[in-house]
Amino acid sequence: MIHCLVLFSLCYGALAMPTPDSNGDISSTDQDFAQKYLNNFFPSITKERNSFREKLEAMQKFFSMKVTGKLDTATMNMMKTPRCGMPDVAAYSTFPRRPRWQKTSITYRIVNYTPDLPASVVDDSIQRAFNVWSQVTPLRFTKVNNREADILIQFSARGHGDQFPFDGPNGVLAHAYAPGPRIGGDAHFDEDERWTNNRAGFNLFLVAAHEFGHSLGLDHSTDRRALMFPNYRYVDTNNFRLSRDDINGIQSLYGRRRK
Ligand SMILES: [Zn+2]
Ligand SMILES: [Zn+2]
Repeated sequence: MIHCLVLFSLCYGALAMPTPDSNGDISSTDQDFAQKYLNNFFPSITKERNSFREKLEAMQKFFSMKVTGKLDTATMNMMKTPRCGMPDVAAYSTFPRRPRWQKTSITYRIVNYTPDLPASVVDDSIQRAFNVWSQVTPLRFTKVNNREADILIQFSARGHGDQFPFDGPNGVLAHAYAPGPRIGGDAHFDEDERWTNNRAGFNLFLVAAHEFGHSLGLDHSTDRRALMFPNYRYVDTNNFRLSRDDINGIQSLYGRRRK
């Protein structure tokens, strides 16, 4: 099940939506940005409700902001925070129909490498990102080089062979597909970002750990402390630990780590 499909087909439909409520402080460019943001990241609301205000209220509620239904500066700033490309739903959640891997031994392959980092650092960041999830579940991840893998990892800019082109620097950083055959589980990283292993640019380990949550079947969480919160936030990556919300989510799909 490819979660993104819902998101982007509705995004194009948005061109026919009514224009946002006018607001003296917000430029028409920002209003267009807000309209696209809501259609991209709150597609289920887009489908069920028509008014810009209702969608905006749902977005403010998701981010635990003051629910004003107005496009104020705080709301604009939240929308402009670099983030994951997957849509937002509710407190820790799994995808509809709860897709999960029906096995505990999962393979991954790094299809290409970002020129931003030495290959050994990419390998290490990816492995540590998988370890975040294997520490609390029975799942085991093995890197393979030449054969078909469950999870393919690639770095690409703009259009890259699926229906969801990246958007240049900032904005959407990466996206990943829920568990399943073929493209299922695959994780794509926007090569127009500057990938790092520290607090500069975007930390590959942190973004990869989040995306692999999707690869394993988790959707976004409203909990700001959760790794599965949609916006990027740098945290100390030494001794990184999942939040209780992330652990509850992944264990609802795979159970606890076996002793
Ligand atoms: Zn995400
Ligand atoms: Zn992609």
